[in-house]
Amino acid sequence: MASFNFAAWPPQLTPEQLEALTLAATTYALSHGLLYLPPSQSSSNTQPRIPTTAIHAPISLIPAPFPRAQFQAARGLQSVYNVLYARVAMDTQFLDTVMGAEEGVGKADQFTGTLWRGWKKIREHGVVQPLHLGLFRSDYMLHAAEDRLALKQVEFNTISSSFGPLSERAAAMHRNILASTSYFSTSPHLTADNFPENNTTSGLAEGLAKAHEAYGVRDARILFVVQPNERNVFDQRWLEYELLEKHQIHVVRQTLADLAVSASLDPSTQVLTITIPSPTNPSPYEISTIYFRASYTPSDFPSPSYYDTRFLLERSRAIKCPSLPLQLAGGKKVQEALTRPGVLERFLSNEGATWGTHALDLTAHAADIRATWMGMWALDSEDVDIAAALDHLPVSGQGQGNVPPGTRFAHLKAPSLVLKPQREGGGNNVYREAIPAFLDALPAEEREAWIAMEMIETPRGISGYLVRASPSSSGTDNGSTEKKVVRAEVISELGFFGYALFGEGEVVEREVGWLVRTKGTESNEGGVAAGFSVLDSVVLV
Ligand code: ADP
Ligand code: MG
Repeated sequence: MASFNFAAWPPQLTPEQLEALTLAATTYALSHGLLYLPPSQSSSNTQPRIPTTAIHAPISLIPAPFPRAQFQAARGLQSVYNVLYARVAMDTQFLDTVMGAEEGVGKADQFTGTLWRGWKKIREHGVVQPLHLGLFRSDYMLHAAEDRLALKQVEFNTISSSFGPLSERAAAMHRNILASTSYFSTSPHLTADNFPENNTTSGLAEGLAKAHEAYGVRDARILFVVQPNERNVFDQRWLEYELLEKHQIHVVRQTLADLAVSASLDPSTQVLTITIPSPTNPSPYEISTIYFRASYTPSDFPSPSYYDTRFLLERSRAIKCPSLPLQLAGGKKVQEALTRPGVLERFLSNEGATWGTHALDLTAHAADIRATWMGMWALDSEDVDIAAALDHLPVSGQGQGNVPPGTRFAHLKAPSLVLKPQREGGGNNVYREAIPAFLDALPAEEREAWIAMEMIETPRGISGYLVRASPSSSGTDNGSTEKKVVRAEVISELGFFGYALFGEGEVVEREVGWLVRTKGTESNEGGVAAGFSVLDSVVLV
């Protein structure tokens, strides 16, 4: 079979066809809840309690081409990844070493250290809820290596893995446009067989419902912990509606600030209840499961009391999605530590039932998992490694003490690396040429907070059509000069969702769907909500 010519994508469209597709996409998105709240008008940067308007999410007109074999490979690996990260979260000693504030990255990174210390204190008093829930997303890009395209992992998310429901709707939108227009027969690849199903909403809600069931109190509610300035609320609401309509489970949405007032723990049972004074909500609700769509970034904790609230939730009997150890397991430093010799293999082995009574031996999958990883290095200790990583330059001399501090990295060029701190949510990485100067300015004691990762070099020359809601919605102030739809050279990132409920006996897990985000190549990052990157889907080639 002839290989797919990425550089010839997308098919050519006439201006009339482009307008017809833009109309179809935009109206489908607005009709089907593929929506965001508009940027906040208020100076407090807090969304009004009752929204008055919504805009469609940024979307692509034509799905992104993705090789069928690599798509299936990512799908097949998701269950292994679900179990792997469940086991990492259950390995207290490993997390203490890698993420802790005494031996690990928590020494150098204050946010990680604070979360870890909170967890440690709770451990010492005894954890009352043995179960953890993860709603995961493993993100990948295609790496163009020696004539072939390899599937490479960007990161693994264990907290607030977003865009499940919206990406289901983006895929449905592309299927609808195909059915209604056949994309004007502009490409033989654009056929229904090449548009895979995507049912993330039901799958993610199933994970939450399984935790609720395991908690065992039918009338309890699921707590969504949300950010006060959240614009991606519809993505969250779709899960809430699914839980009520398919599982008859009610959801309570609260910010950490709300919970400082509304949450309380029964001192003897550690049962968490939420009290909301309102005529329609007369009694306190018992909470079965806490789903965090906040508390993954330092700005979610504007004062120390916010950490008190987070730790109160952690101490409770409710099942946390994620628990603090599972949140810590998603650290970039864990991703790097897993690449070291033997570490992954130990987690995939069944180790005399260390991971639970029915633990499977998954070591046969180790090579496939490793094949999805780029090189990763610690910045703190192994200078030989990092110098080699920084574009494979020879290490000068053996000693590290003979170079004046602050100039060690000045001679290095790093066009093939990205540096990442222990953060989530985008906008934190340092790319390529910016690295040497950044490292020179970085105090030595903060180096340990970062990892270096080889850049994934995506196939070049692929373009796409990106549609934004309105010129003003992108956040930039170019006014009417910005077009609604732009054709741009793009990079696409594929994510697979999965859930895992674990901590006692078998890990209960499943792969539950996927997402594609596409961005213009001129930006390094892929945060859909932040810059001009769009929700997309795939055409398998
Ligand atoms: P975050 O947790 O902040 O989302 P990521 O590790 O996902 O951090 O990095 C953010 C973005 O940076 C990714 O979505 C991707 O576009 C880009 N990126 C991250 N790592 C790499 C890499 N190794 N090669 C190329 N691009 C990368
Ligand atoms: Mg990311």
